[in-house]
Amino acid sequence: MKNILSRLTLLAAAVCLLTACPSEKPAETASQPSATTDAAPKAPAFNADSAYAFTAKQVAFGPRVPNKPAHVACGNYLVAKLKSFGLTVREQPFTAMTFDGTQIKGRNIIAQYQPQAARRVALFAHWDTRPFADAEKDKAKRLLPLDGASDGASAVAVAMEIIRTLSQQPEKMAPNVGVDVILVDAEDWGYDAGLIEGQKNLLQDNGDGWCLGSQYWAKNMVPPNYKAEYGILLDMVGAKDGHFTSEGTSLEKARSVVDKIWNTAAKIGYSDYFLFKDTGAITDDHVYINQAGIPTVDIYDHPAYGEEYFPAYHHTTADNMSLIDRKTMKAVGQTVLQVIYNE
Ligand SMILES: [Zn+2]
Repeated sequence: MKNILSRLTLLAAAVCLLTACPSEKPAETASQPSATTDAAPKAPAFNADSAYAFTAKQVAFGPRVPNKPAHVACGNYLVAKLKSFGLTVREQPFTAMTFDGTQIKGRNIIAQYQPQAARRVALFAHWDTRPFADAEKDKAKRLLPLDGASDGASAVAVAMEIIRTLSQQPEKMAPNVGVDVILVDAEDWGYDAGLIEGQKNLLQDNGDGWCLGSQYWAKNMVPPNYKAEYGILLDMVGAKDGHFTSEGTSLEKARSVVDKIWNTAAKIGYSDYFLFKDTGAITDDHVYINQAGIPTVDIYDHPAYGEEYFPAYHHTTADNMSLIDRKTMKAVGQTVLQVIYNE
């Protein structure tokens, strides 16, 4: 994923004038905690050790770059693991062209808990990794692949642990909604202007090649005619001292869901992670999912202070297991589980 401002470098000034400028807004403009339903049952405990293990397992395959054996092997692992929880699992293969002209084979993976439930919540995460560490300060490292421990693996792991936990609940402890984990592929092979010398965007119509799996899914929903009350996109939710702010498109398209999540986090003690702070819009899978009519919020790691959109490890080789902290995964996983049980 990337910030929208650099994608629209030429239009940057106009963007600032016409829409929300991506520079940070003062905290006092942000939403404040409010009372949530006290009657909702307490969610089961989210097991951060299990989430950590799911992260480490994905990273151990090596970078999950489409067309590479590690990508296929990790995809097979995710399908098998989700099936082992007793869930209905579907695979959606697709092909797509990336900005550098590579024809890739991708696969979205969809697992359903309580598929019969009419009311549904969708959890999204991308399971591929960016093919190059092009945000490295050291130019010599910019063509190296990266582990994607936070950017990819941690979010898949949190979603998997949530649905594993749900799948183990006795019937009387089941939430009132069905939950779908939708793991999208090929999010991270997008065009980021100027980071790698001589790199050109070969896509027509100014396509930038981000979020190819979610774009495909949004146009060809699996299951067919899929509907959810709302979606929660997880992306980069595993790094030590992670912070989650209210992102521009999430606020525009799914304000009530943002409030629901951040208020729940505050109520159960995770306001050090979920900051009541509004920040600019980014390009991420939720953009296309929102276009498909599912109001969807992006929970992604945003620096607590300063002008940067992404933490220092983003799209660098520093995004490896040494970053990963169970406490951050617990904060996100427990909050999302409680949001589900509040329904
Ligand atoms: Zn990324």
